[in-house]
Amino acid sequence: MYSQDSISGRRRGRPEPTPEVLSGLACLICGTDYRTGPDPEPVVASHKDDKQLLACRGTCARMASGSVDGLDETPLPLAERVRRHGSGGS
Ligand SMILES: [Zn+2]
Repeated sequence: MYSQDSISGRRRGRPEPTPEVLSGLACLICGTDYRTGPDPEPVVASHKDDKQLLACRGTCARMASGSVDGLDETPLPLAERVRRHGSGGS
């Protein structure tokens, strides 16, 4: 399914969540990588299976969840998300 793992889903329209998004490491909407750069403060915006999907607080969260604050749920710490991303799947 995700054969182009070097391309991190910058297509517009109806993007497939990238592995980073599925691991809560990138914004579901704009694709901002939370591991790099200034933190846009992600909030939980959706779920996929039992995983949290995150979006930037504000516009991205509102697009994903209907609320600028996302769901009433606390995201996993970044370090934990990175660890799960590294150990899971591929
Ligand atoms: Zn965003």
